[in-house]
Amino acid sequence: MPRAMGQAGGQGDWRIDLLAGDGVAEPGGSAGRPWLGVYFKCAHAYVRVFRNAAGTAYQARCPRCARTIRFAVGAAGTERRTFEVSC
Ligand SMILES: [Zn+2]
Repeated sequence: MPRAMGQAGGQGDWRIDLLAGDGVAEPGGSAGRPWLGVYFKCAHAYVRVFRNAAGTAYQARCPRCARTIRFAVGAAGTERRTFEVSC
């Protein structure tokens, strides 16, 4: 995976604030729901995570160990849309 991908680590569920709203490009485009790309190192799997119905968060689950990672949508945060997860 590209080195430019974000790193996040630690134990337990994560909360990562994401920028949302006008001016922030959503890779899902206008054709569908916005999504994040999350790479789970322990499963060696790249998962596309869609935003929840309320538009408040993205919730990713590792396909191997079932750890849940929550990416909260907030006014302040990162514009990054791909994440690399160690779990
Ligand atoms: Zn895992």
